[in-house]
Parts: sequence; C-alpha cells; structure tokens
Amino acid sequence: MGRRRKKVVHIPKKKLPKFFSCPMCGKETVRVEISRAGDNALTQCSSCGLKEEFPLKTAQGAVDAYCMLTDKIYGPTKTPPATEQ
Ligand SMILES: [Zn+2]
Repeated sequence: MGRRRKKVVHIPKKKLPKFFSCPMCGKETVRVEISRAGDNALTQCSSCGLKEEFPLKTAQGAVDAYCMLTDKIYGPTKTPPATEQ
C-alpha cells in the first residue's frame, strides 16, 4: 500500500531559454524568432521595444542572434554581466 508515488511533473530543461535578458533594459523579455527558412532572426524585447533583425548563417540559432544583438548594443567588446560592481 502506498507504493505508488504521485507523478511529479517535471518541466524538462530546454536547450534554449525562451527569453533572453535585454541589453537595453536588462529584463528577460527578449524573444528570438527564427524565420521559417532559418536564415533570418528577429530579436524583440517586449519590455522596451528593442527590435533588431539579423541574417543567420547555416547552423546559427537563437543564441547567435542574441549575441549579435548584444554586440550591437554593447559594442564589439564583450562585457560579461557578472563583473558588475
Ligand atoms: Zn528591453
């Protein structure tokens, strides 16, 4: 008796986060939409309205598009967010 445990519903970890943190407003409200053909990515922040479109190369994905977005906002030098003081 009582051997059956209730099923615990785990939310599977996805490879990609659904939302990225916005380089403009800092909120995690940036969504990356890849075009059907996979050669274009639209990054859009629903908080501050930042919207950029980037061409994607083969094998590039949402993360790459997000990197291009942050590069565009922050500039070519990469600034890791963890080093804030
Ligand atoms: Zn934003």
